[in-house]
Parts: sequence; structure tokens; C-alpha cells
Amino acid sequence: MANCSKPPRLVLLGKQGAGKGTQAKRLADHYTTVHLSTGDMFRAQAAQGTAFGLEARRYMDAGDLVPDEIVMGVIEECLAPGGPLGDGFVLDGFPRTVPQAVDLDRVLGARPLDLVIDLEVPREIVLDRIAGRRVCVSCQTVYHINMPPSHNWTCDKCGNEVRQRDDDTEEAVERRLQLYERETVPIMDYYRERGLLVVVDGVGEGDEVFERLVKVVNDHVQV
Ligand SMILES: [Zn+2]
Repeated sequence: MANCSKPPRLVLLGKQGAGKGTQAKRLADHYTTVHLSTGDMFRAQAAQGTAFGLEARRYMDAGDLVPDEIVMGVIEECLAPGGPLGDGFVLDGFPRTVPQAVDLDRVLGARPLDLVIDLEVPREIVLDRIAGRRVCVSCQTVYHINMPPSHNWTCDKCGNEVRQRDDDTEEAVERRLQLYERETVPIMDYYRERGLLVVVDGVGEGDEVFERLVKVVNDHVQV
């Protein structure tokens, strides 16, 4: 990257299994900025002992969804001078709802988002990726029904059992995909109306997809 004086402010949207987390991290490295999922932000602010961070952790520890106003409080704390979102960022998994998107615009104020990228992977492909996934019960190494361990579903690394997670069944994935679409389609409309949304084809090798993402950012954002 030549002359990357101002790190971009990006949001990456995508279904579970679209490779969003990996690509968000690569983008953040490429533009020397931070990759943050809401979970990371909650943990970072809780570790610093901020009011909203501690509140968010109480919900997470109880296994509850963190309410919008607390999520926004954490985001505001992260955007404060010296906070992890002080300059550029790649947000992953946030915003999740239109009110959160509206609030994010409000707290970003004078330096708004540069670009929102929808990493598009057809549902059949993510279904196959996740429903075909098999995970070692001990070391969590991930396999796939098309790329199993070398013998009889025992882990190549530690010898423990490799099996499907309860929430990786086709029905469970279908449910999560439906929820994702219900939540995300309105967010995409919100950003499309503001001229911020670009759709990037997320099918293919990781490097290939990453090149597409970098090209889109370079084309749309002055970095
Ligand atoms: Zn293992």
C-alpha cells in the first residue's frame, strides 16, 4: 500500500461462513488499522473497566444478547480519543440493526464511514461450508466432510473425536441464515441509500477474494 495516510473506516457485512472474520482481519492488517468484532470491543472495554464495557460483560456472561443502548455505549467508548476505534477500523458483525447503523453515524460525527462492504456468498455455499464442518472436541481443529482427518474421524493433531457441533446442523444454520437476512437486508438498504454499499463476490480462494476487497476499497476510498 503506497501512501496510506488515513486508515479507512469500513464495515464488513456477510453471512456466517462467508469468511468475513478472516477477510476483515486481513483488510485491517493491509490498511494498518484495527479489526474489531463487537465481542472484541466488549472484552476490550470490560478489561479497561469502562462502565458500558462491564455492563456488556454482565449480559454476555449470562448468555444474553447485549441491548442496543449498551452496544452503542461501548462503541462510543471505543471511539473516544485513545480508544481502539480512534482512527480507522474494520467493523465485523456490527451494526446488526438499522437503529445501530443510525447511532453509529451519529457517534462517528464529522468523520463518517468510508465504505460498507457486503461480502456476498450464496446460501448453498455457506450451508455446505458450515453443515459439512466437523470439529475436534478437544483442540477445536476444523475439518470438513470433504476434507476429513486421515483415520476414522479422529483428530490428526491430538487423536480425539472429531464431530459435528450441535449448532452446525443444516436446520440450525438455516435458522441463523434466515435471522441474518431479516436483520441485514434493512441495513443494506440503509447504506445503499447513502451510497456507501458495495457488494463483493466472496466466492473463491481467500487470496482472490482479498484482492477483490482491496481493489474495491482503493477504488472507493482515498487511502
Ligand atoms: Zn484435536
